[in-house]
Amino acid sequence: MKLHMQILIALGLGIKRNWHIFFGIIAGIFVGIYLHDHSSALVANILTFVGQVFIRLIQMVVIPLVVSAIIIGITSIGDNKQLGKFGTKMIVYYGILTSIAVTIGATLALLVKPGLGAAKYIAANTASEVQATVTTAMEQQGNVLNMFLDFIPSNPLEAFASGHMVSIIVFILMFAVALAKVGDVNRPIVAFFESVFAATMKITDWIMFFAAPGVFALTASAVSSFGIDIFMSISKYLGVLLVGFAIQMFVVYPLFLKTFSKVSAPMLFSAIAEAMMVAFGTASSSATLPLTIACCEKRGISHKISSFVLPLGATLNFDGTALLQTVAVLFLIQAYGVALTPFLVVQIALLAIIASSTCAGIPGAGLITIALILNGMGLSPEQLVAGFAFLFTIERITDMFRTTLNVTSDAVVAATIADNENEINYDLLNNPAAYEDIA
Ligand code: ASP
Repeated sequence: MKLHMQILIALGLGIKRNWHIFFGIIAGIFVGIYLHDHSSALVANILTFVGQVFIRLIQMVVIPLVVSAIIIGITSIGDNKQLGKFGTKMIVYYGILTSIAVTIGATLALLVKPGLGAAKYIAANTASEVQATVTTAMEQQGNVLNMFLDFIPSNPLEAFASGHMVSIIVFILMFAVALAKVGDVNRPIVAFFESVFAATMKITDWIMFFAAPGVFALTASAVSSFGIDIFMSISKYLGVLLVGFAIQMFVVYPLFLKTFSKVSAPMLFSAIAEAMMVAFGTASSSATLPLTIACCEKRGISHKISSFVLPLGATLNFDGTALLQTVAVLFLIQAYGVALTPFLVVQIALLAIIASSTCAGIPGAGLITIALILNGMGLSPEQLVAGFAFLFTIERITDMFRTTLNVTSDAVVAATIADNENEINYDLLNNPAAYEDIA
């Protein structure tokens, strides 16, 4: 059977198992389209409320989960050599997937040229709110060195309190490696975090009962605020993105898995179906992380690998975002008639790899970090505000798709490393009928 058929069947199996979440997405799209023309403040408020309850619930467990997963993951790997090997492999794999994503984005944007016909829409979309957002983002991100400095938390507790993921990870990585090095004296604290991990996974199970209404509400409010007409007016840009996302998802990930492991893409997609759907609904890979970990661990990928690779992936690896950033910047360049040289294209692609990896796994972060790319190209905010306004109109919808990719590629890399290290239970992964439910 052809691979794409196998993938579709696997996704179908995943959906069958979780038809309620899938139904939430589909119903959300229809209700959103209806509400766009029949808006009611009360319904909009209820949808926002339900969606926010779901997002907050899953966000609530992210920090304890990331901290405990990394500490358990790294201390269980133990010796420095193996840790270095895993770490290097992980960065190389994430790097390969992100580089392919930007190459696909650049190729499609250069072929289809979505920005050429966009000048007229740009003039019509100059929202002052967006101007302020973009200008501030540009100013804040102006200095790349300062940004890297921000990754080192001068006060770890402050980083925890403000939920600054990158600096939390920097601290926890160091702390976990130190714990691994001090030997047996680390037992009480590792045991403590083992309990924290188990309890947060239990909470994640409970939260999943709320996944279907949560995803429904989030999808409906996203679609209702844009309506279907916007898709028509910017179909070229959206089309390029969707084709790019589809190539990455259905061609690149399966080929990657085939090249570097024995993992079957259809089986992996089926195993992480819940995480993919929640990523789509929430547009946040950080918020989806508890579920990504639950899906991987309960369906054959060892705890040792999942707990190390997935949290780092949710912080560093944003290939869907990198693809969007490349297309969006080329779109702006084309819309504003800037002359494109091969050097500029390579520069944009490289900056997109860096900008995406500094991105946070929260809704909208990817579009804001585009400021970093533009800044690297010496562009001024004033020049681009109108174009940004245009991109913002479909921001949420593209975010839902790119986040699904971000989460899937974390799992692809985790599965590949698990395969390479003999840390995968194939009898379980390849038997979707026996999958344990998440909730
Ligand atoms: N929302 C994305 C994520 O959480 C990041 C982005 O805005 O591209 O993965």
